[in-house]
Amino acid sequence: MNFLEQKICDEGLVLSSSVLKVDSFLNHQIDPEFMKLIGIEIANRYKSDRITKILTIESSGIAPAVFAGLELGVPVVFARKKKSLTLTEGLLTSKVYSFTKQEQNEISIAEKFMHPGEKVLIIDDFLAHGEAALGLADLVIKANAHISGFGIVIEKSFQEGRKKLEEKGYRVESLARVKEMNTNGITFIQSEVMSS
Ligand code: 5GP
Repeated sequence: MNFLEQKICDEGLVLSSSVLKVDSFLNHQIDPEFMKLIGIEIANRYKSDRITKILTIESSGIAPAVFAGLELGVPVVFARKKKSLTLTEGLLTSKVYSFTKQEQNEISIAEKFMHPGEKVLIIDDFLAHGEAALGLADLVIKANAHISGFGIVIEKSFQEGRKKLEEKGYRVESLARVKEMNTNGITFIQSEVMSS
């Protein structure tokens, strides 16, 4: 078991067979030392890809994205889920349906932070049905930038997110891949050995 899988088993709460709560280190409280290791691990997997920018979505993608950005030495842009008073002009937008919240959000970033030709690493906390990931990919495409791949903290492999992304030819790196979960426990798909 890698250090993330161990943390999920120790602190995660399986709310149903499809929803995992990890609010002690990722979704509410953030464990900075632990998140730093997560960021380093994602960065290591893309260190030879000449990434120029990281794109994530508020709010839970920001922590792993910032630590990965620190390691790769690139800026991090986070897409907003709600319209902002100050974010009004030159916007790139995309629609994202959330299965957990059962609502559609329009996500957006300022055009000026995503330039044509950039090599973009997209990071998020969870990959489930792939809606958020595809919405972020759409923003990169609209900016005429290049999607180098995805860095996911927790992938729920029993949902179809990875399949949708791979069908489009995208590289997906997930640090923990949940095969199955229920109140008795969580099983993982064997993943790459992590550096810590
Ligand atoms: P997707 O768009 O792939 O269906 O879902 C990904 C997004 O939904 C993530 O950004 C994450 O915030 C949220 N999400 C999906 N499944 C879970 C889950 O089991 N637990 C938590 N905490 N968030 C989830």
